[in-house]
Amino acid sequence: MEYDDSPQAEDLRARANSFMEEVVIPTEREHLGHGPIDPEVVEDLRDQAREYDVFCPQIGEEYGGMGMDFRDVLPLFEEAGRSVLGAPAMRVDAPDEGNMHTLEMFGTEEQKEEYLKPLVNAEIRSGFSMTEPKQGAGSDPKMMKTTAEKDGDEWVIDGHKWWTTNGGIADFFIVMALTDQDAHPYNGASLILVDRDVEGVDVVRDIPHMGQSLMDETHSEVRFDDVRVPEENLLGTLNEGFTHAQQRLGPARLTHCMRFTGMATRSLEIAKAYVSDREGFGSTLSEKQDLRFSIAEAETNLHATRTMVRHAAKQISEGNEARIPVSMCKVFAANATQETIDLAVQACGANGIGKDLPIADFYQAVRAFRIVDGADEVHKRVIARDAFEEVGDQSMENLTTF
Ligand SMILES: Cc1cc2nc3c(=O)[nH]c(=O)nc-3n(C[C@H](O)[C@H](O)[C@H](O)COP(=O)(O)OP(=O)(O)OC[C@H]3O[C@@H](n4cnc5c(N)ncnc54)[C@H](O)[C@@H]3O)c2cc1C
Repeated sequence: MEYDDSPQAEDLRARANSFMEEVVIPTEREHLGHGPIDPEVVEDLRDQAREYDVFCPQIGEEYGGMGMDFRDVLPLFEEAGRSVLGAPAMRVDAPDEGNMHTLEMFGTEEQKEEYLKPLVNAEIRSGFSMTEPKQGAGSDPKMMKTTAEKDGDEWVIDGHKWWTTNGGIADFFIVMALTDQDAHPYNGASLILVDRDVEGVDVVRDIPHMGQSLMDETHSEVRFDDVRVPEENLLGTLNEGFTHAQQRLGPARLTHCMRFTGMATRSLEIAKAYVSDREGFGSTLSEKQDLRFSIAEAETNLHATRTMVRHAAKQISEGNEARIPVSMCKVFAANATQETIDLAVQACGANGIGKDLPIADFYQAVRAFRIVDGADEVHKRVIARDAFEEVGDQSMENLTTF
């Protein structure tokens, strides 16, 4: 059974659930409608997450985490998603979580000491800079324009990125740049660590955007103009940047799916409570069959999402890239969670729009999920390519009886 979680995963989920119910959600309630909340409040939540033993379970103990298996931490990610404060509190928030994973997988011991340990402790923040404006890298990352050229024992980086999450507050960036401009980009790009305070790094602006209002989210435009960093800032293997990015993105897409599943689940919990209480046209709204069917469909879609994510995570834990299962999860989860949160907004009437409840924030946050980490169409492209490979030599003649 793919769905079964291990006893360790169940224990972790139970502690995360207590932490969410007893600490995070009451804090959220105090601040709803009055965001962004003070970073000190989040810092206090992190202290309490440590007391509940739910702090950064996905990273090795030697770096300040709990050293748990990837498959076993997924249920915690779902719990964390039930409030926009949950993931930052438990230190499972994007993009730092994915960047920690990248550093843990590919970093040298020096890089782990300098970047990973303080990142786990939230003493510093990070950004992952891949997407570029105009004709640069986007859905098609092969269009990357940013370059890193070797000059003596330094990398010299030139490029223009945007939509770097955390850009406004990041202490360092993991920058994807072409290091061999003659090779195909998939064989000629690398990841390079760049401190924010290095000369030539210019965080041009935080891009105004749709999104939840409780946490101060920034997505920034960043220029790298003749930026010089030591050669040892290369993260992972030279020219293997795209391979490393895939190794980062597979698990990161699944953790995103689980956080948004948590968000959709909580939206549905609130909607069910609202319609069970609210009366109209001679009964509670929960007795209207149209609503009951919609809620049944949403419950089914969320169950399917959880099952698909566990299946893909199992494959990743066994060392497989799981590209197709991950793409299937990503498209399915992004649409299922968006539809579920939209249903919750509708079911709560005006209160779905108001900010006394968290659903309005969730509704704004979830829309980006169909675009980030690969737009729906890009994942469908990958799934379709694989699907058509299976056709192979099969010809219509073998399939028909006429
Ligand atoms: C909230 C948020 C956070 C982000 N954080 C980061 C970050 O931290 N670091 C980073 O590097 N990037 C980040 N991004 C950028 C994100 O990765 C890109 O937006 C995404 O890869 C799509 O690229 P694009 O915006 O350039 O869209 P484009 O490439 O311009 O595509 C536009 C649209 O065209 C459609 N499309 C594209 N290709 C096809 C196709 N083959 N067939 C049919 N339709 C297609 C899709 O609907 C797509 O949404 C973030 C974006 C958002 C919204």
